[in-house]
Amino acid sequence: MLCVLLILTMGCALRRVALVPTAETRGNVVVVATKTTKPRVIFCLGGPGAGKGTQCERLADFGYVHLSAGDLLRRERASGSADGDLIESYISEGRIVPVALSLGLLRKEMERLDAARFVIDGFPRNQDNLDGWKDLMTDFHVDCVLFYEVPVEELVKRMLSRGETSGRSDDTVSVAEKRIATFNDATMPLIDHWERTGEIKVIRIPGDRDVEEVWHLTKAAIEPYLAPCEE
Ligand code: UDP
Ligand code: MG
Repeated sequence: MLCVLLILTMGCALRRVALVPTAETRGNVVVVATKTTKPRVIFCLGGPGAGKGTQCERLADFGYVHLSAGDLLRRERASGSADGDLIESYISEGRIVPVALSLGLLRKEMERLDAARFVIDGFPRNQDNLDGWKDLMTDFHVDCVLFYEVPVEELVKRMLSRGETSGRSDDTVSVAEKRIATFNDATMPLIDHWERTGEIKVIRIPGDRDVEEVWHLTKAAIEPYLAPCEE
C-alpha cells in the first residue's frame, strides 16, 4: 500500500527546517525521515584515505553541508591560534585531539552556517569524541553513519600518493601507520558498538572501488534520509 504521510519542510536545505514524520514510497525504496525539528547530521567514517572527503563533498548536491573535523583542526592550526601547537602535536602523531577542541570547532561552524543538514567527515573518532557529542549536541539529530571500508594496503597507498601533493605532515609512511592503528583501536570500536546496539544505523560502503561506483552506493545509502525541500 502506498503510504504517504505529510512531508513538510520549511525553508531551503541550507537553512534550519522543521520536519514532521514522513514515510513515503519512491519506486521500491521506502523513505523514512525521523520526526525532528533539529538539524540533521550524517557521520562519515572510514580509515585515513578511505575517500570520506571525496564522497562527502558530493553530498552538497543533496543540500548537505560538508564539515571535515580534520580540515577545521588544520585551519585552526594555520590561523595562529594558541591551540596550534597542541593540534600539531596530535596530528603529527596520528592521535586524536581532545574532544573539547574538535567539537568546539565543529559546534562553532555548525552554528555559524545554521544549516538544515550536515555531513560530518572524520568525527567522532573515539569514545571520548562520542561522549562529548552526546553531552553537547543534543540539539542535532544523527540519521546514520556512512562507513567506507578499504583494505589497509590500499589506505597506505592512497595516503602516500596524496602525500606527494597534499603538503600534509601526516601523509607519510610512519604517520600513516599510526593513523591506521588509531583507526583500528579507537574508531572501529564505535562502529562495532553501533552495529551491536543499533543506537545509530551504520551503512557499510566498499570504498575500494571506482569513485563513481562508490558515489552510486553513497547516494543509495542516504536516499532514505532525504526529504523534499521547498524553496
Ligand atoms: N583529527 C582529530 N580529531 C578529529 C578529526 C581529525 O584529532 O575529530 C586529527 C587526527 O590526528 C587525524 C588528523 O586530524 O589523524 C587528520 O584527520 P582527517 O580526517 O583530515 O584525515 P583523513 O582521515 O581524512 O585522512
Ligand atoms: Mg579527509
